[in-house]
Amino acid sequence: MEMAKNNNTFPVKPYLDVQVDKYADYVYATFEYDRINGRMKSFGDFYYPAMVSVCTDICNQFLSEGFADSPKADEYGKTSLLKTMEDDFNQSNPIRSSNAFKKVSLCSGHPLGQCSEQHAANDLLQINGAENLNIKSEIFFSKAVRPANRKAFDPCDNCKKLFDM
Ligand SMILES: [Zn+2]
Repeated sequence: MEMAKNNNTFPVKPYLDVQVDKYADYVYATFEYDRINGRMKSFGDFYYPAMVSVCTDICNQFLSEGFADSPKADEYGKTSLLKTMEDDFNQSNPIRSSNAFKKVSLCSGHPLGQCSEQHAANDLLQINGAENLNIKSEIFFSKAVRPANRKAFDPCDNCKKLFDM
């Protein structure tokens, strides 16, 4: 049996953690500007995305950012991520509706596909040359940060399973 990757000892992790703090500042400022100017996108009860993440590939060639938002099958279907979600969480059956993302989630508080890590990885896989990266062994993540208070969070059970960490 292969060991899960140790995301915390990835040599580029300290750099990713610096980048995600900067990205959290940027996301907070952007959504705060929209809120003040009456162009608020709501995230449930909050003004800001719950969490942001940054990820890179094992060779640190590509860098991508993401924030937590509702999962969309057509977004994840642009990359290998939707297929991997279906294989890992729904016995290779389709996950297409928002209800399906909720139903297969291992976490009671949020659906599969909601997390900033998953949005960041989906963007990374759309970069030219990054399409074939193995999400379980070749993609590494920063800490997840909540822009509203800059607190860091550990990955949830969905992310641990999907990204093997
Ligand atoms: Zn997660």
